[in-house]
Amino acid sequence: MTDQTNELIKKAASQLLNSKHAIALTGAGISTESGIPDFRGPEGVWTKNPGAEERAYKAYEKFMENPKSWWEETLTGPEDPLKEWRKAQPNPGHFALAEMEKMGLLKHTITQNIDGLHEKAGTQNLYEYHGSTFKFRCISCHRRYQLEEYNLEQMLANNQLPPRCKSCGDPIKSDIVFFGEPIPADVAQSSEMEAEKCDLMLICGTSAVVYPFAGLPQIARFGVSSQLFGFLQPKQQGSDVIIIEINAEPTPLTKDGISDYLICGKTGDILPRIVNAIKN
Ligand code: NAD
Repeated sequence: MTDQTNELIKKAASQLLNSKHAIALTGAGISTESGIPDFRGPEGVWTKNPGAEERAYKAYEKFMENPKSWWEETLTGPEDPLKEWRKAQPNPGHFALAEMEKMGLLKHTITQNIDGLHEKAGTQNLYEYHGSTFKFRCISCHRRYQLEEYNLEQMLANNQLPPRCKSCGDPIKSDIVFFGEPIPADVAQSSEMEAEKCDLMLICGTSAVVYPFAGLPQIARFGVSSQLFGFLQPKQQGSDVIIIEINAEPTPLTKDGISDYLICGKTGDILPRIVNAIKN
């Protein structure tokens, strides 16, 4: 670890201690140290299983056209490649963010990840922007359900598919946000409000290219994202939000000067060091 990295870790710790409303944004990079691959790397889910990628692109349209046949095909088709992810365990990066929350320094974590690892690590104030592989969600009222609340095999055998929401009766789908599916309004609005409100944003392990999530740092910096417009008021010029990236490589946020600085390295290494620096 270079002297410069050590200095940046101390700086981030001191800025977190002085913040009033710090939040974290996380992406697939924070989970690679838990053995969860990205999608398109050499060991990626879709590199190894191109059929899954094709199905993923068509899934939302097919579901909305006919939820019953979507569920039937899903339950009788090839095994879900994400099933393995449910066995993964959090790594020191996830635990460090949960600890920062317990210390009262981190108010919310907003993740793009669908792997449930922040929840397993103990983070409580969590928005799962792209949903979770551990949950179902109603397409109308957004009520979430744990997987064990529905016996899908039995429903298939009894010709009772699709599973329906216990509140409003509309079909439920996987909570994972499919390609082409809007981000559920509750999560999208709460995340935008948090980005608008924060005075420190810690961005961990994301390439920051998938929108609208990648627009959240722009909202923190400018009050609006280049791709998200709505109820947010533009921030005053010179707003003093601090945006810190922890990533294995520079991202568009680094290159475009949206973030103040990048701590280059592994989240499982840097985040626990920030926690230590906060304590000392
Ligand atoms: P990404 O794969 O586009 O970018 C990950 C970034 O993290 C890269 O810049 C990479 O260099 C960096 N990185 C990798 N390992 C790291 C580590 N140990 N420490 C620090 N940095 C590290 O991921 P993304 O930006 O989250 O976008 C991918 C999309 O795919 C998201 O929408 C997400 O929902 C989905 N996805 C989720 C998971 C998951 O749930 N774990 C995994 C793969 C993809």
